[in-house]
Amino acid sequence: MALVTTTEMFKKAYDGGYAIGAFNVNNMEIVQGITEAAGELKSPVILQVSKGARAYANHTYLVKLVEAAVIENPDIPIALHLDHGDSFELCKSCVDGGFTSVMIDASSKPFAENIEITKKVVEYAHDHGVVVEAELGTLAGVEAIAIGTSHGAYKFTPDQCTRNEQGILVPPPLRFDVLEEVSKRLPGFPIVLHGSSSVPQNFVKMINENGGKMPDAIGIPEDELRHAAELSVCKINIDSDLRLAMTATIREHFVQHPGDFDPRQYLKPARAAIKELVRHKLIDVLGCAGKA
Ligand SMILES: [Zn+2]
Repeated sequence: MALVTTTEMFKKAYDGGYAIGAFNVNNMEIVQGITEAAGELKSPVILQVSKGARAYANHTYLVKLVEAAVIENPDIPIALHLDHGDSFELCKSCVDGGFTSVMIDASSKPFAENIEITKKVVEYAHDHGVVVEAELGTLAGVEAIAIGTSHGAYKFTPDQCTRNEQGILVPPPLRFDVLEEVSKRLPGFPIVLHGSSSVPQNFVKMINENGGKMPDAIGIPEDELRHAAELSVCKINIDSDLRLAMTATIREHFVQHPGDFDPRQYLKPARAAIKELVRHKLIDVLGCAGKA
């Protein structure tokens, strides 16, 4: 199977009450960890690349890594998506360079200008069979609307949360009322959830116990993500959780094996941790295992 667009994936996900995981990729081990899990579970998957990832790893390397994953996992649909493209030029370059989906996020611009840039991207992308996701102040007839919390491992300040009996921070819930209203007004319209890492506390603990310093890192509870996936949310973006799994595993490895200096010694367990995390997300959170 060649790289696919998300059109068919989203339609099935919407009707089936599940979501597709959109995992951010920066290097070979991350691409492998994600796609090995998706391949074994026969799950559709979106690999997404941010502007920063593209600057870090280079467009050609990333596209070729993803193409390798497609060859290694011929039974599952894989889409390649640009996450938060901030200009027409960047989106165009990804469309021309083999991406099957792009996000235009011109939300830093005044609203009218944002709409204008978004329309231009939609026109160009659609002419080339590429799907567009957009971040707008209001709806403007593009294909996927994005909602969410905030990016990263510190989504809420402790002030915004309550604490449960164990003293663990509990964040305020997602606005399911808004989501339900959107689904009512735009039936069949796929929604994208941003800022949807759950910041697994076992990894935060592992990091802190092995020389790291991440106090009060907090994300979205996974049962809320599962609920969103059952509604009109068809794409759930996950980045920070992969970073945490990788960093926690590498930190622990170095504490336990201070003499190791071969990158394969710590990248191998890091890749395995990413694979295990993605397996869990596909089965228990997104509900997309077996949907390839
Ligand atoms: Zn985002």
